[in-house]
Amino acid sequence: MKKVSIFGATGSVGTSTLDLIGRDTDGYQVVALTAHHDVAALAAAARKHDARLAVIGNVALHDQLREALAGSGIETAAGPEALVDAARIDVDWTMAAIMGCAGLEPTLAALERGRTVALANKESLVSAGSLMMDAARSSGATLLPVDSEHNAIFQCLAGGRLAEVRKITLTASGGPFRTMPLEAMRTVTPAQAVKHPNWSMGAKISVDSATMMNKGLELIEAAHLFPIGLNRIEILVHPQSVIHSMVEYRDCSTLAQLGSPDMRIPIAHALAWPERIATPCTPLDLATIGRLDFEAPDDSRFPALRLARQAAEAGGIYPAVLNAANEVAVAAFLGGRTGFLEIATIVEETLSGYSAQTPRRIEDILEADRSARMAAGRILERVQV
Ligand code: NAD
Ligand code: MG
Repeated sequence: MKKVSIFGATGSVGTSTLDLIGRDTDGYQVVALTAHHDVAALAAAARKHDARLAVIGNVALHDQLREALAGSGIETAAGPEALVDAARIDVDWTMAAIMGCAGLEPTLAALERGRTVALANKESLVSAGSLMMDAARSSGATLLPVDSEHNAIFQCLAGGRLAEVRKITLTASGGPFRTMPLEAMRTVTPAQAVKHPNWSMGAKISVDSATMMNKGLELIEAAHLFPIGLNRIEILVHPQSVIHSMVEYRDCSTLAQLGSPDMRIPIAHALAWPERIATPCTPLDLATIGRLDFEAPDDSRFPALRLARQAAEAGGIYPAVLNAANEVAVAAFLGGRTGFLEIATIVEETLSGYSAQTPRRIEDILEADRSARMAAGRILERVQV
């Protein structure tokens, strides 16, 4: 039996993970499940999967969680420190699927502990990639990428060695506004932005897909996971989301991983690796799909791509600042406090207020994250709608 813990258990990735685990109750023992505020969903999942511990991020909700789990024998805890403590509990496999930089400390704690960490929480790798990769190396942890593109690259790399790779191509759907003129983007609503053409995901990453910041974050994520140099990682728009990414080797052989746009496929890969398990997902039917299209990304309508590449090239604290400002701007957009095009403006202005600094410890990253959130908040007041 594999002992597993799931961070962000009530989210889109978390529930997909529990869906797979629930199909093989003899194969897995659920140790810890966490969520931020959805007490009812967390308690229901903890009872259903017979978890040992349920942790709620928001301390004010601890009593509600205790009540919801009364008589179940399931332990409860609350708050950011309790999340980190839960990540230190020894399990075979951890799913890191908290949304945003809030996942940084628990994800790092899981990597420091060792064993296997399936990583969906890309923001932690964007903000603190070098420290995360160092932690995994020191503890001997196996880091398995769950983001569909990075999982695809990981699978393609089974066909050769990183030293033999000439180019990595990250595919991007282009999001719901792929063909929309810039002027029309000015007035798009949160409801339009979260309506992704191919994937069903949490609200924040859906907005990131609409601005294409998601692909920018993924570029930084890829540069840490597969260190071949930023200039050898390119982005290609592929509206059908069938090819999840590609690796070109020096002999001009290109390997790609394909599949239906269902996150349970990369999650199942990370859950069973190095083996494979059956999933309930729809197999690919290329005859019905008929054609696959590709186009170059448009940096002028999607400036987030340029901002992310610049932050990645500058390195140091810039990716953490980019990520923090983006989280603030996306939350403001979702809350109706700023417009869609202002997201990139807020990120760009926040970045311009920083000079180069090399973070040495996790505290340096957390400080950059805090200060960038405040700076972005001040800029937001000026660009409110
Ligand atoms: P979601 O919004 O559906 O769920 C987020 C989860 O994190 C929830 O369980 C929530 O309770 C928890 N959470 C949020 N804020 C928290 C906080 N401050 N403290 C503790 N817990 C908190 O998000 P999602 O779509 O499942 O995405 C999760 C992560 O996976 C993100 O980093 C995202 O970029 C990445 N990812 C998601 C997908 C996808 O298809 N949904 C694909 C690739 C990568
Ligand atoms: Mg992705």
